Amino acid sequence: MPEREDPGPSGSTAASAPEPTSLSEVLAAVERLWPVSGAEEWDAPGLVSGDPDQPVRSIRLAVDAVAETVDEAVATDADLLLVHHPLLLRGVATIAEDRYKGALLARLVRAGCALLGAHTNADVVGSGTSATLAARLGLIDVRPIAAGADPARGIGRVGELPGRTTLGRLAGLLSDLLPATAGGVRGSGDYEAPVRRVALCGGAGDSLLSHPAVRGADVYITSDLRHHPASEAREQARIAGGPALLDISHWASEWLWLDVAADELRRALPHVEVTVSDARTDPWDFAVVR
Ligand SMILES: [Zn+2]
Repeated sequence: MPEREDPGPSGSTAASAPEPTSLSEVLAAVERLWPVSGAEEWDAPGLVSGDPDQPVRSIRLAVDAVAETVDEAVATDADLLLVHHPLLLRGVATIAEDRYKGALLARLVRAGCALLGAHTNADVVGSGTSATLAARLGLIDVRPIAAGADPARGIGRVGELPGRTTLGRLAGLLSDLLPATAGGVRGSGDYEAPVRRVALCGGAGDSLLSHPAVRGADVYITSDLRHHPASEAREQARIAGGPALLDISHWASEWLWLDVAADELRRALPHVEVTVSDARTDPWDFAVVR
């Protein structure tokens, strides 16, 4: 890591160079943007590795801490890798380097790159993952599906499309605005069905399938829908009404948020370079469809 230049005689430009931003200042900005108090009880957001006193000149954003994004962060001399998904969500007994989590952490520590997660605390805010997807779809009258004490915050979003469209056209719109993935967009429902009210949840949202705001929507967009929850929702919709389903890539649904987060960080930390990884960390590489 380069030392600061000698300021030299007074009046030189180097003398007015700003102090490097510290990791603790980054942590304070992150807490203002995505307060940890908004995280789910089971979640583990926050600093995973790094010295709060270390300088941070550049931050790399990614959805996942995996080999590709860690290698990118190291290769680009990032001082901090900020990810959406916690690397250490459940207890670990070892960070030996024959396990991938240990290997990733060791690589980051050796390179002087800290690791920080902003997960469900970044989902619930007014510019979080689901709110970003709602904005990109152009939804209006948007509100959280599961609001917390603050009605502007909460998991998922429900809103109205600015005009009536069909389920198939909405799937096409999603396919256009999301980065490409092997799984694409899967639909459950009549391709020509009219849709106006959209419920959505970035990431795995099957826990909201029975929520009244989702049941009352024309379509529910989320990720990682498994056979039984999707089948049960579909059958229930046949007899009592309920939304069509659009299943999108978990990574893609949350990757859209990174640009929003990067802009917020640039405004909060004007001396820090912030870049977004476009590495596709969706775990699926291909699909065969016939
Ligand atoms: Zn996620």
